[in-house]
Amino acid sequence: MNSIFDRLRALPLRTHKAISFLSMLGSSVLGWILTEIFPGMIFVHVICLVGFIGGIVWHIVFVRCPHCGHLFNYRAAIPDFCPECGKKLE
Ligand SMILES: [Zn+2]
Repeated sequence: MNSIFDRLRALPLRTHKAISFLSMLGSSVLGWILTEIFPGMIFVHVICLVGFIGGIVWHIVFVRCPHCGHLFNYRAAIPDFCPECGKKLE
């Protein structure tokens, strides 16, 4: 029986990186737009902070080498081979 977590883990690393990146970018842009529309609304900041932190957590949890668990640099692109164990990445 596969949990949602296992199924998510099976997605390609680049997909996870994209999700993480879009979550952070999306909450930043959304936060900026909503702050313009609703200045001084604290819930806007909370929602965007949650989205932003969610993107970081997503990266830490999922953007790892499937072989050795090496955590990839957030800013760098996903390499073809793991810098830690040297195995090919999907
Ligand atoms: Zn590795």
